[in-house]
Amino acid sequence: MEIVLETEQLGKRYGRTWALRDCSLRLPAGRVAALVGPNGAGKSTLLHLAVGLLRPDAGVIRVLGQAPYDNTSVLSQVGFVAQDTPLYRDFTADELFTMGSRLNRRFDLALAHRRLEQIAIPRDKPVGRLSGGQRAQVALALAMAKRPRLLLLDEPVASIDPLARREFLDALMGIVAETGTTVLLSSHILADLERTCDYLIVLDASEVRLSGSVDTLIGEHRHVTVEDLVLRHLAKGASA
Ligand code: ADP
Repeated sequence: MEIVLETEQLGKRYGRTWALRDCSLRLPAGRVAALVGPNGAGKSTLLHLAVGLLRPDAGVIRVLGQAPYDNTSVLSQVGFVAQDTPLYRDFTADELFTMGSRLNRRFDLALAHRRLEQIAIPRDKPVGRLSGGQRAQVALALAMAKRPRLLLLDEPVASIDPLARREFLDALMGIVAETGTTVLLSSHILADLERTCDYLIVLDASEVRLSGSVDTLIGEHRHVTVEDLVLRHLAKGASA
C-alpha cells in the first residue's frame, strides 16, 4: 500500500505554544480524507507543513516519500488550495489557467476548461466578480489541472453556502473518480465532509485524536444514545 503522506511525532510551535504536537499518521494513496477539528486545532499548520510552507520543529513529515520543506521538487506533484481560495481577483479563469500552464509542465488545460464548462462558470470574467462558490470551483479546477498525486484543500467549503458546498464536493468526487488523486481536505464541521470522505483524521488541541479509514473507525466505535437505551428498556418491558 503506497503511503502519500506520513508524519512521525511531527510538531510545530509558535514561541512556547505547540500548534501541532506528537502528530503521527499515514494517509494511503487513493483516499479522500477529512481533516477535522475545531478552529485552532492545528489543521492549517499540518497542511502548511505538508506543502513546505513551514519547517517542522519536531519529528518528520514525508510527502510522496520526501520532506517537503527541504525537497521542494516534490511540490510539483502536490496541489494546494489555501483557506479562502486566494486567487488574483482581477484575473479571469482563463488568465489563471494560462499562468498555471506556464508554471507547471504537466498542466492539463483541457481538464481545466472542461471542468468550468460542466458547471457553466465563465472563463472570461475576473474571478473577483464570481460568487464565492464559483471562485472555489475555479481554484479547484486550477489545482486539479496540475494533475497532482496529492491534493490538499484547507477549509474549501467554509465560506460558501450549502448548495454551492454540495456542488463543490460533488465536483471534487467526480474529479477524484476520474484521476485517482489522493485528497486531504480540512473542515471544522464534520457534517460537511461525511458524504465525501472515506478516511478521517481528527485533530483537537494540537493533537491527533483519531485517524483511520472510516469503515474501520465505525467498526471500532459504537454510538449509544439515550434514545437507544430508552428503546431497549421499552423493548424489555414489552417482552416481559
Ligand atoms: P486550524 O487550522 O485548525 O484552525 P491552525 O493550524 O491555524 O488551526 O492553528 C493552530 C494553533 O496555532 C492555534 O492556536 C493558532 O492560534 C496558532 N497559530 C497558527 N499560526 C500562528 C502564527 N503564525 N503565529 C502564532 N500562532 C499561530
